[in-house]
Amino acid sequence: NPTLLWLRRDLRLSDHPALRAAVARGGPVIPVMIRDDQMHGLGAAPKWRLGLGIEAMGRALAEKGSRLILRSGQAAEVLSALVEETGAGAVYWTRAYDPESIARDRGVKETLVAAGVEAQSHAGHLLFEPWEVETGQGSYYKVYTPYWNAVKSRDVAAPLTAPAEITAPAHWPESEDLDDWALGAAMQRGAAVCLPHQHVGEATAQGRLGAFMAQGIAEYRARRDLPGEAGTSGLSENLSLGEISIRQCWHAAMRARQEGAAGAETWAKELVWREFAYHLIYHTPRLASGNWREEWDGFPWREAGDSPEVMAWKQGRTGVEFVDAAMREMYVTGKMHNRARMVVASYLTKHLLTHWRVGQRWFEEHLSDWDVASNALGWQWVAGSGPDAAPFFRVFNPDTQAEKFDKGGAYRRAWIAEGQDAPPDTALAYFEAIPQSWNLSASRRYPDSPIVGLKEGRQAALAAYEARKPG
Ligand code: FAD
Repeated sequence: NPTLLWLRRDLRLSDHPALRAAVARGGPVIPVMIRDDQMHGLGAAPKWRLGLGIEAMGRALAEKGSRLILRSGQAAEVLSALVEETGAGAVYWTRAYDPESIARDRGVKETLVAAGVEAQSHAGHLLFEPWEVETGQGSYYKVYTPYWNAVKSRDVAAPLTAPAEITAPAHWPESEDLDDWALGAAMQRGAAVCLPHQHVGEATAQGRLGAFMAQGIAEYRARRDLPGEAGTSGLSENLSLGEISIRQCWHAAMRARQEGAAGAETWAKELVWREFAYHLIYHTPRLASGNWREEWDGFPWREAGDSPEVMAWKQGRTGVEFVDAAMREMYVTGKMHNRARMVVASYLTKHLLTHWRVGQRWFEEHLSDWDVASNALGWQWVAGSGPDAAPFFRVFNPDTQAEKFDKGGAYRRAWIAEGQDAPPDTALAYFEAIPQSWNLSASRRYPDSPIVGLKEGRQAALAAYEARKPG
């Protein structure tokens, strides 16, 4: 009898343990994707990007003589109905680790098992299962460096190849139409601008990894912090949707290290930041939605997401060039350089004394590489409320950051058109990418001065911290 392969954030054929297990079980495999509440609840950009990924996965499966069946509804109900329709004896999927997915998947498993259907979750999203990495005291890790030391020399099994064949069922169940899912509906006019900046699908991701290993990794250590250069892999959107496996990236890094590539270990450490984020969200689910250090509850952060200052931050019009360049980069590309993410997050949570959740939500709407664990950890790391976080009183000065990491101003010029005689297309694209409701396209005048001065903002943040030191 057939196996249902329930796909979620694992849109690839190679190094896919659940797929390999489904094939090994024998009989037909029916890949299915479900538009459930979780998918409905995604932010505009990640939902749109997911749609592109689903389309690519459908094509990749078709090339193997298989299909991707699309259904809408509660996962447990949809899968039960499909079991009924197809006579499937098993449902396999790749494990997820955030609280919402865990609750859903647990319910699905109970429903299927109660109906006598084999239900199996498989590894595949991470290098190390969160419960397999423990401190000497049998607890989970709260600090990155000891976590890294605990995992850096572990054996990681070699990636699996794609199955040579995926047996099709004699009759395919009905599928909904991806166009009807309208996953890009909330993107408004930004989608056309954003599209050329996406690197969709497994084949593209493989190509990017190959190119990064051939050229980028050797200089990664030196260039990774320069937002004006393409010094990083750009694989986050693919890792987020599982279009490439983390295990394959890890093995590529280890090979490069053996061959003496200078940046290989640094890159491997970044891959492990992603692991650490999942380790933490699994062991402390509150990471996703509230202060990880509960003593930060009650810190006088402003909660409003629509004050003039916060709107200026969102729109890339604070008058602080590095911050504005970064926010505009996100509008146009769906991504933002890591150094810039740290700087804009610091400006919001410190200079503008605004709750990190406001920024977390804005990123969740606009990042095509949105990742539930890395986004939450990133925000809480900068805000100071997270595990192993930067202390609150370490306030990034965006101008100093720009002098250091964007010396010639290439990054700021790439994204801020105002004041340039012949602005590059990237900078002009911002005016195409933003919603019309902002009414900005007419007034292409850059703010004369920062909405909150760097010195005043820093002093106010430190005063707030002194007045109510958490803990
Ligand atoms: P590379 O430098 O090539 O690194 C390779 C991979 O390692 C990345 O693709 C990513 O999977 C992982 N990685 C690198 N840095 C980090 C990090 N600091 N934390 C966790 N994983 C990391 N990353 C996301 O994937 N999605 C998010 O939603 C996200 N939100 C963030 C929010 C804030 C406030 C901050 C400070 C960071 C956030 N990051 C997020 C982490 C990081 O900025 C991106 O992973 C990185 O910029 C992606 O670029 P790249 O693929 O070229 O990375």
